[in-house]
Amino acid sequence: MSANLTPAQQAAALVDTLGPEALAKAQDYTTGNHWILFLGVGVSFLVAFIVVRLRLLDRITARMEGRKPWLSTLAVSAAFFLISAVISLPWVVYTDWYRQRAYDLSQQDPFDFLGQLAISEVISAAVGGLFLTGVYALIRRTGQRWWIWSGGLATVTTLLMLLAGPSLIEPLFNEYKPVPPGEVRTALEEIADEVDIPHDRIFMYDGSRQSERFTANVSGIGPTARIAISDIALKQASVAEVRAVTGHEAGHYKLGHIWRYVVIMPLMAMAFFFLLNRLFAPTARLLGSDARLDEPRGLPVFAVVGSVLGLLATPITNTLTRVGETEADRYSLETVNEPDALATALVKTAEYRYPRPSAIEEALFYTHPSVEKRALRAMEWKAAHTKDEPASP
Ligand SMILES: [Zn+2]
Repeated sequence: MSANLTPAQQAAALVDTLGPEALAKAQDYTTGNHWILFLGVGVSFLVAFIVVRLRLLDRITARMEGRKPWLSTLAVSAAFFLISAVISLPWVVYTDWYRQRAYDLSQQDPFDFLGQLAISEVISAAVGGLFLTGVYALIRRTGQRWWIWSGGLATVTTLLMLLAGPSLIEPLFNEYKPVPPGEVRTALEEIADEVDIPHDRIFMYDGSRQSERFTANVSGIGPTARIAISDIALKQASVAEVRAVTGHEAGHYKLGHIWRYVVIMPLMAMAFFFLLNRLFAPTARLLGSDARLDEPRGLPVFAVVGSVLGLLATPITNTLTRVGETEADRYSLETVNEPDALATALVKTAEYRYPRPSAIEEALFYTHPSVEKRALRAMEWKAAHTKDEPASP
């Protein structure tokens, strides 16, 4: 990149390398994602309306009569997850499979997609069913303060999922293998040392199964922490790009971003349950449900309130993640010092998120700062820090 360009011109030039056609396609895809967010709330209304009108949960509740309350609650909750998954199946196939294929972001065949979707729906029904069984028990036992206790339960559930994710859940969707010896492995080992992750916790997974996205991640907490890199990265990225991207992911881990969520999650869950307390009755009337808050057959009402509040909270959670992303980019620049590779690797992700959104669009909908902004920061870093001789491994 020519030295007499300003960092802003360099970042713009990098984004321009995508070409007008790819940029238009990315914009189209990204705008569609915003609509999907709103339409998703409509789908949850529709699901709730169907379940209430057909009295599906009332029938299951009647069948479970005489059983222990927790068993009845578990059956009704898990059934609600599975019924919702069936009713919304056409929508999910459109958003998560058809659309990804239409924009050349995935090559997954339909049967593999449906098989994996079934696995994830069963996990949601089991985990969600158990969680809701706990919530209803707290509603029954802790009176007016149930929303505080339920926020605590949400935290415990999140921590358990963080612990179980890498070893129990992720292998159901992808195969994790050691990264073969070579310069990529050496680069990853250096980064692992930096963040105190043992070398036997560095993996490569078949990310190409679901997505063409070039990605890496550091997930898990404590002994389950691990670095994983998609096989796409090994096919499409330079070693410098792998270093830059893994440095970013290692930044999330080293800076303890996960613990931020562990603190914020219960607060958001408490706020949600507190509002649910107030919004349940009017929403039930709207849907034509005669269920009370403490009855699991009122779950469709619960779900509608959840989806509306979830949508309203999106700008807040997005702002939190954007702050974390900026910090992780900075960590990558400070530790691996590959500003050019970080910028080119980011440009490769632009087809998933239009790189030049308006400020308001970015503030409301973007989980990451725009690629142009992130590339600009990398170029500013480069201008401020002349790079040393290439580090010898
Ligand atoms: Zn990140």
